[in-house]
Amino acid sequence: MKLRPDTLAVHGSTPKVASGSRKPRRPFDAIPMPIVTSTTFAFENTQEIRDHFEGRIERDEYGRYGTPSARSVERVLASLEAGEDAAVFSSGMAAITTALLALLKSGDHVILTADGYRRTRQFVTNTLTRYGVTSTIVEPSDVEGLAAAIVPGQTRVVLTEAPSNPYLRVPDVPAIAALCKAQRGVKLLVDATFATPINGRPLEWGADLVIHSGTKYLGGHNDVLAGGVVGASSLVSLVREMRGVLGGVLDAHAAYLLERGMRTLGLRVRRQNESALLLASRFEHHPAVRRMFYPGLSSHPDHAVAQRLLSGFGGVVTFELASLEAASTFVDALRIATIAPSLGGVETLVEQPALMSFYELTSEERAAIGVPDGLVRLSIGVEDADDLGDDVQQALDAAQR
Ligand code: PLP
Repeated sequence: MKLRPDTLAVHGSTPKVASGSRKPRRPFDAIPMPIVTSTTFAFENTQEIRDHFEGRIERDEYGRYGTPSARSVERVLASLEAGEDAAVFSSGMAAITTALLALLKSGDHVILTADGYRRTRQFVTNTLTRYGVTSTIVEPSDVEGLAAAIVPGQTRVVLTEAPSNPYLRVPDVPAIAALCKAQRGVKLLVDATFATPINGRPLEWGADLVIHSGTKYLGGHNDVLAGGVVGASSLVSLVREMRGVLGGVLDAHAAYLLERGMRTLGLRVRRQNESALLLASRFEHHPAVRRMFYPGLSSHPDHAVAQRLLSGFGGVVTFELASLEAASTFVDALRIATIAPSLGGVETLVEQPALMSFYELTSEERAAIGVPDGLVRLSIGVEDADDLGDDVQQALDAAQR
């Protein structure tokens, strides 16, 4: 019986449902997976050590290599993404950096799509450069440009985001995957933090690894930092080995929070999809709004690709107001949304990229990298959509005065 995402989000690690047998049940017959805080795991005798290292038994050894709590949420994530295996990390950035370090060596080349998370870009273009890895950045919709950027024998990783941040670009991942597969040794990594396994299926589109900042929709409550990597066992085991060296594993308490949050993923994300589409449509033509960016609107440059690939357009809405001051007036006038730099949780959050993520740049420098002063990013939570709409209405009216 092939289970659907809403069932897997609740039961992806429940032994009876996940394995199809009534046994083994969870420790202590608990319903949720208990939090196992032990940092090391006892061996009964030296034979058990041999059996462990020679692969005859599967068991835990030392917390940096994994714990029952981390493995439990890994099973849920792998099942939701329909991947063979998953590895969880102490943050989304730990997931991204560990995966890249596992796959790359000096002399290799990486292709990134533009409008990606700026710390990912910083890691590739600043840190990896110091270790002899070169990179090229291409526009998210420019599949031909991406094909031209591939250096045969040198390009090892293509890393894209779907949808991207803050303009919610949706690259044609199946077309990019076909390009990567036509070359030997090029792996396609898709950061699907904004899509979630509810709205997008990167492994089915042909990606080799899906990456998540679990801090966002998967955790969903703005109370846990986490990351995840999902894909074929052969690739995930390379990433897991690197995690054991770098040490960015998810701790047991955080693993519990992540698994708990994921149980309601489908409920939350579908509501966030609905509310975001409602708000984007309602305010696209408000006189204070210069431009609205939402992949569910026909005005978005990637609307057709988004319609083809995504089953929901996500909970983030980005729009441009006339100036830094207008955007600040809007943000300060909001009553429900909280000013904070994240997304994907149950609380609606609002961010002015010019004042938060790109504060250190001048207005001209921001404009040059495509971040106008009046830009606002709204991450819709699960509050009543009409309340959110009324709040945005009064704040936009204030920004227009
Ligand atoms: N990927 C995307 C698309 C993000 O938006 C973020 C964080 O904002 C990250 C990765 C990094 O995740 P974390 O903050 O959990 O390290």
